[in-house]
Amino acid sequence: MKKAAAKRAVKKAAVQKAPVKKTVVAPKKATAAVKGAPAAKTVAPAKGESHTALVRRARRINRELAEVYPYAHPELDFENPFQLIVATVLSAQTTDLRVNQTTPALFAKYPTPEDLAAANPEEVEEILRPTGFFRAKTKSVTGLSKGIVEQFGGEVPGRLEDLVKLPGVGRKTAFVVLGNAFGRPGITVDTHFQRLVRRWQWTAESDPDKIEAAVGALFPKSDWTDLSHHVIWHGRRICHARKPACGACPIAPLCPAYGEGETDPEKAKKLLKYEKGGFPGQRLNPPQSYLDAGGKPAPPLGAG
Ligand code: SF4
Repeated sequence: MKKAAAKRAVKKAAVQKAPVKKTVVAPKKATAAVKGAPAAKTVAPAKGESHTALVRRARRINRELAEVYPYAHPELDFENPFQLIVATVLSAQTTDLRVNQTTPALFAKYPTPEDLAAANPEEVEEILRPTGFFRAKTKSVTGLSKGIVEQFGGEVPGRLEDLVKLPGVGRKTAFVVLGNAFGRPGITVDTHFQRLVRRWQWTAESDPDKIEAAVGALFPKSDWTDLSHHVIWHGRRICHARKPACGACPIAPLCPAYGEGETDPEKAKKLLKYEKGGFPGQRLNPPQSYLDAGGKPAPPLGAG
């Protein structure tokens, strides 16, 4: 009897001392803390999720995000493919907002590839100074313009294989241009896209080209461009790098990384950016759909 009692006591002590693993559980219903966000039903991403289940979850996330950001669009101001390709090259190492505040002066002075190819580099540098790395960027955009003039008769080409022949144009820039200036499907694997698809466990790849292929395989091609906007918009507004606003995230029930950021709804709401937080966006000339949804244009350079 004594032995049995001692055994029970040891067992009890072991249970009491066992470390309690803190598990963060996503809310059963979407917090809908974001105004207009749809309420998602709970779908817990399972460990060892099958490919079919992953495809379903990934597409569901995209559908939910389409309802949260029905007005999602490229956040660089542009009026033609030339302006978009130049703005995309300038957006390296800086924000779209800073590019948008800089390009009006650039395109007013050099409206065509011929103009920019023949420009005085010092004058271009002065205009591009606010974007940072302005000397290197001047070389890039004048070299790119020369390439467009010499290789393609002054017209930005509308095919991937041609675009990547232009100096300084990789697949990411090419897809931005194809998707947004030519209406051809493209996935844009920028820093937000890389971070979010990893958080959502859509792929374990870290190389942008491999991420592009892995994510592309989860969606029909016709979804690629809008998918890129939805993911990037979510990364900029809610699922930030350092402090994701999980407590205000409409896709929390679908996200394996829920709890990586602030889960308190009120505190999370304060982390929201751009139109979700009631602030101006990145474009000086956003589309009407954005303005209709309560979005505000960004201020010009020097105004804020
Ligand atoms: S990490 Fe948080 S903010 Fe990002 S998608 Fe998941 S739940 Fe939403």
